[in-house]
Amino acid sequence: MRVLDLLKQVRQRWVERVVHRLARGEHTRESFRQELERYLELVEQAILSGDPGWLNEILDRWISVRTQSEQQHHAASLAPILRHILLSLSFVARENLSDADALELLTAYLPLHSHALEYTSRLEGEAYVEYIASELEEARRRLERIDRSKSNFISVAAHELKTPLTLIEGYASMLMETYAQNDAAALLLKGIATGVQRLREIIDDMIDVSLIDNKMLQLNFQPVWLQQLLGIASHELQSVLQERDITLQLEDFPGSNEMIFADSERLYQAFWNLLTNAVKYTPNGGRITVSGRTLPGFIEVTVSDTGIGIDPEDQVLIFEKFGSLGDASLHSSGRTKFKGGGPGLGLSITKGIVEAHGGTIWVESPGCDEKTCPGSTFHVLLPIRKEAPNEQLNKLFRPMLMETKTNAHAGEKAET
Ligand code: ADP
Repeated sequence: MRVLDLLKQVRQRWVERVVHRLARGEHTRESFRQELERYLELVEQAILSGDPGWLNEILDRWISVRTQSEQQHHAASLAPILRHILLSLSFVARENLSDADALELLTAYLPLHSHALEYTSRLEGEAYVEYIASELEEARRRLERIDRSKSNFISVAAHELKTPLTLIEGYASMLMETYAQNDAAALLLKGIATGVQRLREIIDDMIDVSLIDNKMLQLNFQPVWLQQLLGIASHELQSVLQERDITLQLEDFPGSNEMIFADSERLYQAFWNLLTNAVKYTPNGGRITVSGRTLPGFIEVTVSDTGIGIDPEDQVLIFEKFGSLGDASLHSSGRTKFKGGGPGLGLSITKGIVEAHGGTIWVESPGCDEKTCPGSTFHVLLPIRKEAPNEQLNKLFRPMLMETKTNAHAGEKAET
């Protein structure tokens, strides 16, 4: 075959030129030369058979030796090498062959070059995607580990803090009794009691977060009327609302007077968090509206405020533990003061409680702006349960059933 003869004529110079251009050091040059020799053998086979697939064997090997750092930077490592091989062929062919022969040889090699380029870039792309996927998986595992140790830390810290706090509580109440007649001391002790109460709330929140994280939150299902539950919360908030000149409107919405099975204490805690947040992030003179509706199988409760609002990019983040936005040092200290941010556990507990009920929670807000106060609306979707879930019924009635069975058995024995 004429092309093969032409190839033979330039082959040695072609190899030398590529080696000289691309490899440094005697040892590297030698092993690169061997690789090129093999490449050209396969080029010959490919030209002979008309099948560029002959090159795949060596291309596969070259791709597999790509270093990790090349993968990290997604360097298309083989493309420049293949380009040099082509340019060197074009150079040595023009130097050593007639124009017509050089053109014939290049025309025969060009489809092989295109095949090699397409094949390697596809494989390199696939390898890169695989590398990124494995990196992502590793990052996910690392995050999971960090999250687990964060959750363990919260649980340990909360339990460790509980004991000294109980001591302080005990001694403070003893001192209050002792100095009940001393106005100045009573005032100071009241301050300590308020601080201790706030600390207890934070520790309780930490314990709840670790219960939720470890999927250990146990619900005690019983009949609940949302209107009643929300009414109690609104009543509890009255003095704060007056102090902050905020109007709370609790609507008599469809489904609010329906009996559903839920954990009333936990549900109260969830709505209490939403309502105190609404107070915290609404400036004086604002308005909070609690409304809702029924949907097939669900009751949706909405808590809307005329507060500072939440940016769309933060609307998922705030439901994560420690999802408090803004600079913690700028938080106002009070529980219900304007922007009195806390440790950022409230909404993650609320989400955990709602989800443990089989519901969902999300927020809608046009964005955060303290001047225009676009407001936020929190949506809570709760399933309408007409009885306690089976596991709880089993737990409640199993001892009774066991007792009935044992009695029946004893009766049978006595008869015989
Ligand atoms: P925190 O203890 O900081 O209040 P939460 O988990 O209750 O923690 O809330 C997380 C963050 O969500 C808050 O720091 C606040 O930035 C934002 N947020 C919650 N409720 C509202 C609301 N009604 N309006 C504006 N921002 C809110």
